[in-house]
Formats: sequence, structure tokens, C-alpha cells
Amino acid sequence: MNNIIFFGPPGAGKGTQAKIISEYLDISHLSTGDILRKKILQKDSVAIQLKEIMSAGKLVSDDILNEIVLERLSNEEKNGFILDGYPRTTTQAVFLNKYFKNSSSKIDYIFNIQISFEILKERIIKRSSEESRDDDNIEVIHTRYSEYLNSTEMVTNLYKDKYKDIFYEIDGSYEIEEITRNIKEILKKT
Ligand code: AMP
Repeated sequence: MNNIIFFGPPGAGKGTQAKIISEYLDISHLSTGDILRKKILQKDSVAIQLKEIMSAGKLVSDDILNEIVLERLSNEEKNGFILDGYPRTTTQAVFLNKYFKNSSSKIDYIFNIQISFEILKERIIKRSSEESRDDDNIEVIHTRYSEYLNSTEMVTNLYKDKYKDIFYEIDGSYEIEEITRNIKEILKKT
């Protein structure tokens, strides 16, 4: 099994790398951001609330996220999965931990993609012209980055302490291909 978590601030390239690596290893790519963006298209009352929270750059409630992840992970049939964008809070981390315990599975690799705020700002502005995401603009990126610093960075540090042997820091300032090469090298070595 290859169960992988990607951490990193918004715009670090988690989604891009998670997609490439999931295809390379033939495992599922579970992007909570993508799942939520699909839910918004349903245009029901939950969708309206989600749109409001996400376009402001805030985090969606833990209950919604945990339910999504539980449903998706329980239906996994492949050789593993990549979690891209989850867990982002300590409540989500505790929930995931319980899931692993109950299902007798574990995390095999954790990649933390790091970039400076300056680079991520540039990337998000570029992405906004390509993907037209509501939350890819200069005002919202500040909120998204604050949410990262206030919640997710702490979760990342907890994992770094707890899973020293499988936690890998990745420099996200390189070109996409170079970052993929670095990740693949780690996967091959271990
Ligand atoms: P992403 O595509 O990972 O940048 O996520 C886009 C947005 O979806 C975030 O800014 C949050 O509003 C929401 N979101 C995605 N994953 C989570 C999560 N694990 N916890 C809370 N909100 C999330």
C-alpha cells in the first residue's frame, strides 16, 4: 500500500504533484478542495454555504470534511491514496488517526511542499487566469495563507514530530518536473 499525505500552503503545488504521483503509483487522488468545488456545482443549500466560505478563503467545517473523507476512504479499492488538502486542522488529524486505527492501515509517506509567500502569490495570480477559481485572487490569498498559518502549519508540525521517518520536506520553488523528480527519488529509495 502507498498511503500518502501532501502538506503545504495554498499555491505550493500540492494538487499538481498529487495528480502526477497518483498516476505514477496508480493510487487514488483525494483532493478535498476538488470534492468541495464539485459539491458547489449542485447548487443546493449546502452548496450556497460552501461557496460563501470557500470564496472568502476560510476553512469549511471539520464535520463536513471528515464525512467526505470517511466516505471516500471507505470506498477505496486501489493500492493506496493521496490526501491532498486534508487534514488541515487538529480535529481532522484526530479523526484521520482514528480512521487509520479502525481500518488497520497507516500513512506511508508525508511530503511537505514549502514555498515563500512571494512565490505563492505569483503562482496564485497566474492560476487565476487559467482556472478561474473564486478564491484565487490577491485579497483572498491573504486569508487562505492565514488559515494555513493558524491551523494547518501546526498540524504539519505535529505530523513532522510524530512521523519523523516518513516525513519529507520538499522545496516547492523548483519547476514542476524537478519537484516530481525529487518526490519520485524518495519513493524509489524507501
Ligand atoms: P484547496 O483546493 O485545497 O486549496 O482548497 C480550497 C478550499 O476548500 C479551501 O480554501 C477551504 O475553503 C476548502 N477546504 C479544502 N480542504 C479543506 C479541509 N481539509 N478543511 C477545511 N476546508 C477545506
